Amino acid sequence: MMNYVRTPAIVLLLVCLGVSGCATTGDSAPSSANDNMDAVVWQQTSAEYAAVTTGIYASATTALEAIAKTDRARSMAVVLDVDETVLDNVPYQAQLVLDDATYEGESWDRWVALRAAPATPGVVDFIQASQSLGVHVVFITNRRCRARPDSTGDCPQKDDTLANLQDVGIDTTSTTLFLRGEIPPEGCAELLTAAEQDDGTWSSDKTSRRECVRLDHDIVMLFGDQFGDFKEVEGGWSGRDLAAEFSEYWGKTWFMLPNPTYGGWKPRTSDEKRALIRGVD
Ligand SMILES: [Mg+2]
Repeated sequence: MMNYVRTPAIVLLLVCLGVSGCATTGDSAPSSANDNMDAVVWQQTSAEYAAVTTGIYASATTALEAIAKTDRARSMAVVLDVDETVLDNVPYQAQLVLDDATYEGESWDRWVALRAAPATPGVVDFIQASQSLGVHVVFITNRRCRARPDSTGDCPQKDDTLANLQDVGIDTTSTTLFLRGEIPPEGCAELLTAAEQDDGTWSSDKTSRRECVRLDHDIVMLFGDQFGDFKEVEGGWSGRDLAAEFSEYWGKTWFMLPNPTYGGWKPRTSDEKRALIRGVD
């Protein structure tokens, strides 16, 4: 994903989180995961969250049906981020809150290995509609390839993600999935950014992966929960003015899914949060 992430498998995660000992307190320290309680309750239990995501994907389906009727020389593709766009990792976030823990890579990777994330409400119908319209479905995720002692290959996370997507009802046989840390397929290595050329793999910047898709397809829609799913943002910060710069795209070809639990918008410490918010003048 993601910079941030159930079980008898839940036992594995609990053990991991306990060992991590990463809960912290104090105003200048990283905020406690308990800060996420309201966000987790909203995302995991409310009718409102499911209504928002279902509405976004229903509107996108209507728009895509119109786009698919246009004449194009090249095949069309829709590009979707995975975490909090297609797969809903709120059980991981909920566990962090329950354990008073914060995100860390080991617990996240154990969550990914469980292949247990439910689908974001509405997305499965959208992907099925895209496929029946002949539009290629591409997933570009910042889930990171990382070898595991108990798995074969350099990127067990790719197998986990495909299996999870398949399990929620998405036919992945004719889709494309690009992860962070993967070696680009033939023809796309020259599209790597200068920063990526050092180790020859894709970084968290999704720009070169979108360019790779564009070699063979017209990207007609983008879906994500972070600004970088649409356009790379220097420093990862996405203040509100940034949305206004691209107002012509929202809800037409760019579709942002709500993610109240983490993101480039979220300061790390309580002090930083207090410095940002504004009350009544
Ligand atoms: Mg995401």
